[in-house]
Amino acid sequence: MAEKTLNVFEIVQGQIKEACDILGMEPAVYEILKQPQRFMEVAIPVNMDDGSVKVFPGFRSQHNDAIGPTKGGLRFHPDVYADEVKALSMWMTFKCACIGLPYGGGKGAIKVDPRQLSKGELERLSRGWIREMAQIIGPEKDIPAPDVYTNAQIMAWMVDEFAKIRQYNAFGLMTGKPIIIGGSLGRNTATARGCVFTIREAAKKLGIDLSKATVAIQGYGNAGSFAAELISAYGSKVVAVNDTKGGAYNPDGIDPVAIAKYKEKTRSVVGFPGTKNITSDELLTLDVDILIPAAFENQITSANAARVKAKIIGEAANGPTTPEADAVLYKNGLLVLPDILASAGGVTVSYYEWVQNNYGYYWSEEEVNSRLEASMVKAFEAIYDMHKQKNVPMRQAAYMVAIKRVYEAMKVRGWLD
Ligand code: GLU
Repeated sequence: MAEKTLNVFEIVQGQIKEACDILGMEPAVYEILKQPQRFMEVAIPVNMDDGSVKVFPGFRSQHNDAIGPTKGGLRFHPDVYADEVKALSMWMTFKCACIGLPYGGGKGAIKVDPRQLSKGELERLSRGWIREMAQIIGPEKDIPAPDVYTNAQIMAWMVDEFAKIRQYNAFGLMTGKPIIIGGSLGRNTATARGCVFTIREAAKKLGIDLSKATVAIQGYGNAGSFAAELISAYGSKVVAVNDTKGGAYNPDGIDPVAIAKYKEKTRSVVGFPGTKNITSDELLTLDVDILIPAAFENQITSANAARVKAKIIGEAANGPTTPEADAVLYKNGLLVLPDILASAGGVTVSYYEWVQNNYGYYWSEEEVNSRLEASMVKAFEAIYDMHKQKNVPMRQAAYMVAIKRVYEAMKVRGWLD
């Protein structure tokens, strides 16, 4: 199969298999982990503003709940497909496990381009997804959150719909909610913050001075834009960013806040004053110290991996690097901070949000951020140690740490007897 058409489901199966083999796991471990425990596909009818009815496919995948309720985002995207949702739910299991969160992995999606919908249509679609999924989700069962093209408003409609069905406010059903209905301070910057913490730790190990480092960021949504802001606070210079419409490059540095405001107005970073256009391929292969892929799957591939020059790659997106590319990057001595570690800040603060909902007691932003920092640094250290000890890439090390934990839970629960 050509790498371009490589199914992400097969990619994650390969990653699990490899780690299980190195760990010498009994075959049943891979047999259980190679697919989700439950996958649900629904058809959601929506009354459109023009009087017609449109039906949208919706998905929820619950990969493994050995450690705790399944957890993971919900994305709205026109190209999303069932196997992708399955793969994303599998990555969530290992993301939660490598941080040490008491969750398994889940993921959901609706196949839609939300930019084509009115606010009313979007609300009816969001509520429809909850009505179809209500039987399999819940605060102790499976807890969705924002992902690509979903946000706090959508979480609010969903929590509200669930409250109508259950006849009580179950705010712990969703995370990434607006603050007024139980959202956590610090949640919206958490993915980026977690990623930048891991980059900071990696930079220390490699002797890279962040205050002199240059950075390129692929994708300027929630993760990419906050990552730009946060890494700039360490004195690093963001020289290139992009989005689906194109890129912006300025070797003297780009003001991350000003370009975010510009994007809000024009809907793209392209044409930001003082920058030159840059293609995605040029951005990924720029001569920078740090590269942050913060967009989609399968971006660093065998077509460009050999030309990637960054010393540290901090994966804020899920699955941005293909296995072939991974091998090339490792051979070339680049340090890849894998998605299941580097993008785990979001779900970590989602966990804090759920804890606060369960407690009914809310923390300050400083408290959230300092707990996040401690969690990310601890996870980074454990994975870095495994990487050094076993002489394996960081990704494999992260899977090994995670799979050991999932194995332990499955074993003690009697799933492997
Ligand atoms: N969608 C985010 C992720 O892929 C966050 C998931 C969550 O907070 O549950 O990690």
